[in-house]
Amino acid sequence: MAWNRRRVLAALPLAWASGALGSAPGGAGAVARAPGSRAAARRLARPRRTRARVEVVALGTAQDAGVPQINCFKDHCAVVRSGAAEPPRVACLGLVDHDTGHRFLIDATPDFSPQVGDLLAPDGVPLPEVAGATVQLQSHLHGVLLTHAHIGHYSGLVHLGKEVAAPRGLPVWASTAMGEFLRANAPWEALFRNGFADLRLAAAGVRIGLTPSLAVTPFQVVHRPEYSDTLGYLIHGPERTLMYVPDADVWDGWQVPFEQLLVQADVALIDGSFWSHQELGHRVQADIPHPPVSETIERLGSMHKRPQIWFIHLNHTNPLWDPEAPELRSMPAGFGVTRTGQRWDL
Ligand SMILES: [Zn+2]
Ligand SMILES: [Zn+2]
Ligand SMILES: [Zn+2]
Repeated sequence: MAWNRRRVLAALPLAWASGALGSAPGGAGAVARAPGSRAAARRLARPRRTRARVEVVALGTAQDAGVPQINCFKDHCAVVRSGAAEPPRVACLGLVDHDTGHRFLIDATPDFSPQVGDLLAPDGVPLPEVAGATVQLQSHLHGVLLTHAHIGHYSGLVHLGKEVAAPRGLPVWASTAMGEFLRANAPWEALFRNGFADLRLAAAGVRIGLTPSLAVTPFQVVHRPEYSDTLGYLIHGPERTLMYVPDADVWDGWQVPFEQLLVQADVALIDGSFWSHQELGHRVQADIPHPPVSETIERLGSMHKRPQIWFIHLNHTNPLWDPEAPELRSMPAGFGVTRTGQRWDL
């Protein structure tokens, strides 16, 4: 699509840093309700007075490379590079059990540091327990659950090293293949050798209890296995389940069929990398396959008992970043675009 620079300038902060409190997705309308700054997103990430016991918050929504992408000089990236719009962060979820005070992240992105900040100290308010300049990270962040070994999903683990936080035994859950990759390669292996992180197994189909009220069930996803396989997660609270699949090549051929997992969830945040197959210019879409949003909507549109669907992990080229995009307005009820700061009570 053609990008109108002024329209994009006016619209981008709204789409990128906005949130609605668990509202039902409804295409353009759902986005338009949102406030318009990262500060607003942080306020939304702050626990409310009447708290659900378990809450999931979106701490970022972009594909691995974020926005601006290093080699893109089109308007949608240039406007962020110029400072006129805040850069959206890479797709990441925070899980909070307000009863126990436990907090977890799904994926350690290149934006790991500010995302931990948004999870632990929303709105920039310091942790009340802090006496010195720094804290023992493992006292406030209680684990990281990884999906796979593409840069947007695990490279933030560098912040657990000796140069940075050096926590004591921070739990990191990963599949067997992902764990072997981390243990076999520097600098990741040093995190475990030095006891900064404690590697734990996330096995497909095996429920992991994180707190008495919060659990996850990993599942296998079909996605380019260059260094590891890929997991998605069903996140279970006391009342509701949220499905998270930021990255997938296709919706077919899964070990447990995609739709069979989807119907177990009340809300699903799924791969929205591309709107269509035509987005990439010089890159060949077949080299980096993702189910386009337009086709996913078509596939799931007629599905009986479909959960709320929110697309996440948007590539910098995706027209859905623009709240005035016709593609966004064309989305039927029940589908929406995830915003940073958006949260769901489970
Ligand atoms: Zn990714
Ligand atoms: Zn771009
Ligand atoms: Zn990936």
